[in-house]
Amino acid sequence: MAYSKWEAALTANYETTVSWRRYLHEHPEPSFEEWETRAFIAKTLKSFGYSEIQENVGGGGIVAYLRGKKAGPTIGFRADFDALRIQEATGLAFASKNPGVMHACGHDGHTATLLSVAKVLADFQESLSGTVKFIFQHAEEVLPGGGKSMVEAGVLDDVDYVYGLHLRSPLEFGKVTYCSGYAMAAPDFFEIKIQGKGGHAAHPDATVDSVLVASYVVNQLQSIISRQKDPMKSGVVTFSTLKAGDGAYNVIADTAFLKGTVRTFAPELRDLIEEKISSMTKSICEAHGATCEVTYTRGYPAVYNHEEETKLLAELFTETFGEASVEPTPLRMGGEDFAYYLQEKPGSFFFVNSGNKEKGIIYPHHHPKFDFDERALLLGGKCFLSIVDHYLVDKQKKTIKETVSNQ
Ligand code: MN
Repeated sequence: MAYSKWEAALTANYETTVSWRRYLHEHPEPSFEEWETRAFIAKTLKSFGYSEIQENVGGGGIVAYLRGKKAGPTIGFRADFDALRIQEATGLAFASKNPGVMHACGHDGHTATLLSVAKVLADFQESLSGTVKFIFQHAEEVLPGGGKSMVEAGVLDDVDYVYGLHLRSPLEFGKVTYCSGYAMAAPDFFEIKIQGKGGHAAHPDATVDSVLVASYVVNQLQSIISRQKDPMKSGVVTFSTLKAGDGAYNVIADTAFLKGTVRTFAPELRDLIEEKISSMTKSICEAHGATCEVTYTRGYPAVYNHEEETKLLAELFTETFGEASVEPTPLRMGGEDFAYYLQEKPGSFFFVNSGNKEKGIIYPHHHPKFDFDERALLLGGKCFLSIVDHYLVDKQKKTIKETVSNQ
């Protein structure tokens, strides 16, 4: 059986995989500036014997092809490799050497995992019927994101199915999870500037109080969620910033600034909230004699995992790891630009839990003390291998058998 040989090779490479992860972790680079990271990935792929490598795909992505000896489908696997502008506080021996930049979302792990899969499969190229396309993506964390430009550059044109993984700390290590349908939200952002008329705090009648108007806006816009949207559809409106005045007791502030985020799954709800934020803010301001500027920025679309491919993952992973290690996970409000890939081709984005209470790996993603249990690299690698085994080995055998029995 192909898979068991691959698994042994993956396990034998574990220490090396960990060293790749630690190298990447030590040398993080922020989104759109991953020069050394890109060079490292390309160099490492070449060291495995990959010759068909494309660089600067959609700006900064790297793509490598592994073509089997026989015909078959093309499976796309994506790993992201950018870091965040966060000052690391883990105290790890391999902590970031780049001040103010940190791999705090586990993208170092995603990339090391996919490199390990690329290495293992390169040695078994002969036995594959079809192609594995390794997609290393820059700039997942910052709009407009690398995923959009890579997809627009045609990275999925020759791909039949596409899959990606995300580590999940601090959820305890040992489980692989999947989510059918909507899995992650569309994260949008807005800014509101309210222009009142400043003046003496003792004479409000001669002013337009921007603080009071901003308070109405914060309050009333919550009714979009509680009164105006379909209760069966999830949505979040959060005001994260409210700024007005300079700290004086006796001055009515001239202007107030609000910032916040919107999270949705259904596109029609996204449209509704965008429209309501603008129209309600304008009406509230008008009613009180203030004016406003509303800027609404759309982030990534929601991640939608295709039902059939997600069901397949659940079956493959259960076969590989046993029922106790695989489970469905509820949809969450975070965002991911893997959404663009799944708008283009069937596939699924799955999760490998990577926390470890005993080892103190208890911090969430984007936290200065974020870390993950490195055994997740191996678990994730096995997930990808089981997908390859299905499409490029098993399914091909079955197709041949069917063809023979039909004749
Ligand atoms: Mn991430």
